[in-house]
Amino acid sequence: MSEESEVLSDDAVYRARDSLLCSACAGYTARTTGKTISGQSLRPVSARLVSAWPVDEFGPCSCDCGRLIAVVVAGRVVVSEPAAAAGGKAKNGRD
Ligand SMILES: [Zn+2]
Repeated sequence: MSEESEVLSDDAVYRARDSLLCSACAGYTARTTGKTISGQSLRPVSARLVSAWPVDEFGPCSCDCGRLIAVVVAGRVVVSEPAAAAGGKAKNGRD
């Protein structure tokens, strides 16, 4: 098999040490190996991390490129795309 499979979900926010990343801003290496080029493992953010996130200091719990924002709803991590929501043109074309 020569085809590279991507190990990161497209709609999850991952934590790699001090960074929050999504599949778009994590980069190719992270998408295919689950680790950054410096060897940090990417793990989906936990509800505990998101609820403890210092919004006052760092702003919303969003990934590096700002595509995704993670919030905690009823104890579970919910990830949304603020740009799509703000535009009011969110596509409902889920498959
Ligand atoms: Zn991102």
